[in-house]
Amino acid sequence: MKKLGFGLMRLPLLDPNDGTSIDYEKSQVLVDRFMEEGFSYFDTAMVYQGGEGERFFGKAVADRYPRDSFFITTKLPSWKYAKNMDFERDFEMELERLHVDYVDNYYIHALQDHNMDVPLKHDQFGFLARKKEEGKMKSIGFSFHGTPELLDQLLTQHPEVDMVQLQLNYLDWDAPNVRSRECHEVAVKHGVKITIMEPLKGGTLVNIPDKAKALMKEYNPDASIASWGIRFAASLENVMVVLSGMNDPAQVEDNISYMKDFRPLNEDEKMILREVAKIIKEDIYIPCTSCHYCVPGCPKHICIPDYFSLFNDYKRAGEVYLPIHWNIYHSLISKNGMAADCVGCRQCERQCPQHLPIVQYLKEFSSALDFRTGHDY
Ligand code: SF4
Ligand code: SF4
Repeated sequence: MKKLGFGLMRLPLLDPNDGTSIDYEKSQVLVDRFMEEGFSYFDTAMVYQGGEGERFFGKAVADRYPRDSFFITTKLPSWKYAKNMDFERDFEMELERLHVDYVDNYYIHALQDHNMDVPLKHDQFGFLARKKEEGKMKSIGFSFHGTPELLDQLLTQHPEVDMVQLQLNYLDWDAPNVRSRECHEVAVKHGVKITIMEPLKGGTLVNIPDKAKALMKEYNPDASIASWGIRFAASLENVMVVLSGMNDPAQVEDNISYMKDFRPLNEDEKMILREVAKIIKEDIYIPCTSCHYCVPGCPKHICIPDYFSLFNDYKRAGEVYLPIHWNIYHSLISKNGMAADCVGCRQCERQCPQHLPIVQYLKEFSSALDFRTGHDY
């Protein structure tokens, strides 16, 4: 299988304010071009584009191509079942939307350290294992945003898992708040197949400083900036597929150009990426080191370094990636105070070894990301 997957979560829209209004005509062109070049992996989820991502796949791919020419994976929204266990009904609904009798893979969606209560209480792993026995899911796994410790625990307790989807990119490879390298090492240790989401960190790794771009262009003037991030992820051990949420023809053509006959990064290219990561980090808006000294005493339980990391990404990538950043923020505020909750007591500033004006930064963050709802991400 070719190592590029089509993520069906950012398809072109008819109405930019309605995330469910997929433009079938434009989206079909992208999918057909992808298939034409021999790619086959599609990734969706019950919640992508309000369920319309699955419906689009059914009409655009399953109805028009032979079943053995594509690989489809979708996801169970692990957080949705606090009060009921309608997995069976919802899974059947997904098959109907996708126009298939079985899925090639099925993930429990977005497991992380703070949201394990519902999946474990309702034995979502057991549900997937039963469906695999029945042949309705050819392989099973979970998408993951947590710590390497949790990943190790889950893969040890569930040897039936075939695949994991990790969030990973060259900028966060050694970041203490993301720990991509360690998560990758754990997955390799357990011998599971790995798929990669957000290899460009929600677009952040396309809009990089000119100095970093120059390094890349000097080495290879023809390679796009995006190609470096996608090839970094695809070069890692056990990686089966890297996802790209393609939404325009130029992006599809660019991805095809270097993923059709994939060539892993060589040592020179890896060295350049390490330099690029250093430059991007120097260009950061809030120079927070993520030491967490400011967090324990906050009366509003605001996870300051996580918000600052997100704000840095937002500042670099710009408004066009707001849905992605808001989505991450939404997940963080499910367990933490919002930036807008800050009461200005400045306890945090007294603890900060970098002497950052935390309250001021939180105000800026809040005006950019708090209350930016109205989307169904
Ligand atoms: S100033 Fe705001 S962020 Fe800092 S400790 Fe007080 S409430 Fe928390
Ligand atoms: S104490 Fe300062 S540097 Fe450390 S995490 Fe908090 S804001 Fe960042």
